[in-house]
Formats: sequence, structure tokens, C-alpha cells
Amino acid sequence: MNVLILHAHSEPKSFTSALKDIAVEFFRDNGNEVIVSDLYAMNFNPVGVQSDFKSRVNPEYFSYLKEQMNAHLNNLFVEDLKAEMEKLKWADFLLINTPLWWSSFPAILKGWFDRVFALGFAYHPREKLYETGVFRGKKTMLCLTAGASESAYTDSGANGDIMKILYHIHHGLLYYVGLDVLPPFIAWRAHLESRETLEKYIENYKSYLADLNNLKPIF
Ligand SMILES: Cc1cc2nc3c(=O)[nH]c(=O)nc-3n(C[C@H](O)[C@H](O)[C@H](O)COP(=O)(O)OP(=O)(O)OC[C@H]3O[C@@H](n4cnc5c(N)ncnc54)[C@H](O)[C@@H]3O)c2cc1C
Repeated sequence: MNVLILHAHSEPKSFTSALKDIAVEFFRDNGNEVIVSDLYAMNFNPVGVQSDFKSRVNPEYFSYLKEQMNAHLNNLFVEDLKAEMEKLKWADFLLINTPLWWSSFPAILKGWFDRVFALGFAYHPREKLYETGVFRGKKTMLCLTAGASESAYTDSGANGDIMKILYHIHHGLLYYVGLDVLPPFIAWRAHLESRETLEKYIENYKSYLADLNNLKPIF
């Protein structure tokens, strides 16, 4: 299997980066090909703007969606975008490795999706969405670190049910383009826990990855 890991942490010694390293090792040791898009190390530009395109269908008025479709049809995406799109086409499994920031993704990761999940390339409204989506047959999963405790992210907790909070990502972003979304792995209180607890998370994550084929998609 071809595995693309999107990694969004700027500190290589962080716990989030340790989870990324575990996944790289696990997949390679099990005979898979792995590519890591380490977004901070790549200095990935997360801002979708005019310069995403080599030339424009309408130089007078900028419509990001119209330019995305035109670029898709006429091979006009700039090189950094084309490279990420090629990785996505190549991948059977997209692993998204990131801290939870404001109940969502850090901007650098959100911007990757803004720019790479382009109209035409990743979806066609009314045609290729959800169960007829462009990326049917590929799988995805979030590996998250969170600052809060698990109990804070329940229906009765201060922050609400984590699965409801992640719905816009799981359903509105990943399943939207046809990916099979596996249940997330979440390491809670990642920057607060003791070294022993964090090491336990590492062991749990290895077991989680070893059991990947038995996980059922959420949708
Ligand atoms: C802008 C912003 C918004 C945020 N919003 C939210 C939010 O909405 N909800 C929420 O819950 N949290 C939120 N947080 C908190 C955030 O999710 C946590 O800070 C983050 O998940 C902690 O992970 P880390 O990798 O950065 O931890 P680090 O602080 O980098 O790592 C924790 C510890 O792990 C140790 N470590 C590294 N490798 C290993 C290893 N192999 N084994 C054992 N220990 C190891 C490190 O030495 C370190 O001491 C937010 C943070 C920011 C900055």
C-alpha cells in the first residue's frame, strides 16, 4: 500500500512528531511505501491565492473555484500544488498527523486542503461526491494530539463530543471527496501527561496501526 502522511508540527522532538515517526516506521516495516509531506519543514504555503495558477481564465476578476477548475482542465496549477496532487493520486492511505488547534487543524494543514483539494481535481459538485467521490477506494485517518482530557470532549464535558466536533473534517472534507474515513487515534493531554503515559500512548498507537485492517469506516 502507498501511504501519504500529512504532518503538521514544527518541532521534530514533539510528541506529535514522535507519533508521525512511529507511523513511518510501522508502515515501512510492513512492506508499504511511505511519503511524508512535512508541511512546516516544506514551508508549505497554506494561502489559496491568484499565484496558485500559471495563468488565469479570467484576469479581470478572481474566482478561486473557476480558476481551480480551469487549472485542472488545462494543467495550470503551480508546481508545489501539482507535487502534492501527485502524492495524493499515488496514495492508497492518507494519514493526517496533527495537533488539534481550536477544535480543528492548524492553518498550515487547513490550507493544504484549501489548495490541494481543488475543484475538478478532488471533487465535482453534484457528480463526484461522497460515495461517488473522486477518491473512492482510498482510506484516511486522523492521528491527533489534544491538550484537553478525553472527558472534556464528551457530550457532558466542557468542549462537547469530539466526534461531533470533528464531523466537519470527517464528513465535510474527507468523506466529501470519497475517502473512507477510519476512526481517529487521539492522544489526550499530550503536552501535560507524564513521560510514562505518553510512552503508553506510543504503544497503544502501534497496536491501533497493527489493527488498521479491522477498523470500520465511520461513514
Ligand atoms: C493555537 C493552539 C490551539 C489549540 N487548540 C486546542 C483545542 O482546541 N483543543 C485541545 O484539546 N487542545 C488545543 N491545543 C493544545 C494542543 O492540541 C496541544 O498543545 C498539542 O496537542 C500537544 O502536542 P505536542 O506534540 O505539541 O506536545 P509537546 O509539548 O511537543 O510534547 C509533549 C511531551 O512529549 C514528549 N515526547 C516527545 N516524544 C516522546 C516519546 N516518543 N515518548 C514520550 N514522550 C515524548 C516531549 O518531550 C514533551 O515533553 C491548542 C494549542 C495551540 C497552540
